[in-house]
Amino acid sequence: MNRREFLVQFIGMLAFVSGLNSCHFHSRKTMIYKVDYNNCIGCQECFSACKHHAISLLDNKAYIDSQKCHGCGDCAERCKRKAIVLLKS
Ligand code: SF4
Ligand code: SF4
Repeated sequence: MNRREFLVQFIGMLAFVSGLNSCHFHSRKTMIYKVDYNNCIGCQECFSACKHHAISLLDNKAYIDSQKCHGCGDCAERCKRKAIVLLKS
């Protein structure tokens, strides 16, 4: 193992141990999206925008599973009703 390979492995190990190796970890901690049920019409347009399959239909409204959501905001951009809102950044 040369010096560069060692450094790459070492930095990767440090990042893993600190829990900061994932941008998803960062975004999940800082960006929280919620559905405004007054504006949501249950059209499901936002479903396909979510790469993480975090949105489902609940009582004819979109529901975001916070455990699956990575905080990317793609669903909010897709929603023509502006029914997905950013709560925290
Ligand atoms: S696109 Fe907007 S209105 Fe349609 S289901 Fe999603 S949040 Fe509701
Ligand atoms: S913010 Fe991103 S990950 Fe979360 S529900 Fe919307 S599209 Fe999916």
